[in-house]
Amino acid sequence: MKFGTKALHAGIIPDPSTGAIMTPIFQTSTYVQSAPGEHKGYEYARTQNPTRDVLEKNIAALENGKFGRCFSSGMGATDTIAKLLKPGDEVVCTNDLYGGTYRIFTKIYQDYGIKFSFVDMSDLREVESSISDNTALVWVETPTNPMMSIVDIRGISEIAGRHDTMVAVDNTFATPYLQNPLDLGADIVVHSVTKYIAGHSDVVMGAIVTNSETLDERIAFIQNSAGAIPGPNDCFLVLRGIKTLHVRMDRHCLNGERIAHFLKSHPLVERVFWPGFDDHPNHQIAKKQMKKYGGMISFILKDDSQEAAFDVMKKLKIFSLAESLGGVESLVGHPASMTHASIPREQRLESGLTDSLIRLSIGIEDIDDLIEDLEQAIG
Ligand SMILES: *Cc1c(COP(=O)(O)O)cnc(C)c1O
Repeated sequence: MKFGTKALHAGIIPDPSTGAIMTPIFQTSTYVQSAPGEHKGYEYARTQNPTRDVLEKNIAALENGKFGRCFSSGMGATDTIAKLLKPGDEVVCTNDLYGGTYRIFTKIYQDYGIKFSFVDMSDLREVESSISDNTALVWVETPTNPMMSIVDIRGISEIAGRHDTMVAVDNTFATPYLQNPLDLGADIVVHSVTKYIAGHSDVVMGAIVTNSETLDERIAFIQNSAGAIPGPNDCFLVLRGIKTLHVRMDRHCLNGERIAHFLKSHPLVERVFWPGFDDHPNHQIAKKQMKKYGGMISFILKDDSQEAAFDVMKKLKIFSLAESLGGVESLVGHPASMTHASIPREQRLESGLTDSLIRLSIGIEDIDDLIEDLEQAIG
């Protein structure tokens, strides 16, 4: 089955009791048993919920994975992966990392005796030399946020395989429509469902997909024990959002491409970060592992002061100034003071994240209006 068909149909069956074509919202905390221990597979809603079950099957199918689990947020999913580790374990991470992931690793799990190192993963040799006998996990984000670097998932998976180390990929930016890490050798895919998968800026949720039954059993155990589960209403909203994921992504990508080229040719713009450019340093890998190049773009102005960047952000009318990304409406953000404020400035600068960097999440509005908005704001 191809992607668009899976988005609409994978895991979804008309409700057996009524024939309702849409998965019902099972708003219940418990399930009646006919005798102690005799039930229909559902005991308590932290452990199982039929609305969540359908969503988990659907997201697993979109990632070409066997097992899917949903969480109350993307960070709830990341937290679950961290709980697979034990004191003494080491984790090698992409250096240009989502701020919240950096925060939970360094401010919470480091205190539990897990060691994290951050490397430029566009250099595979650097990744290999960072792996030690204690490395239990390689954590990949690609495209990276907000520098839009591309990490070679297959290359990393081969290296990790030689060292008997797991690979987890945060696939939030690419979505399962553009990139499927499990097919490229990764062991675990993590999503902030909040972004493109839900797609309408109205839900916070996370997901994990794997092909390993052993891993999934442990992940389900942690999901049930720690309890970071999404509610059935949110599962319904996400199931509804997913039905247009492929259609939305095509438009995000098309608008993204037009805006990337518009910005690149603008006389007041110094540099545009978008993996679709032929001269992007990792373009060949992006071309190999992604279907298209996504709707996320970062850029810096010729005037590299923070004031100049703030001025553009203030003047934008259709782009709303907000954290988050991947919704149908266009957003603009200032990573240094917003999404990435929890990363120390020196470390931000090391990965190229300057105070003047502007990040755009390109929505699905009419492209002419978006370009006109950027034109009047940049001047
Ligand atoms: C937003 C985001 C997260 C965290 O997800 P939440 O749903 O906000 O908890 C993790 N990784 C990336 C790349 C993100 O953009």
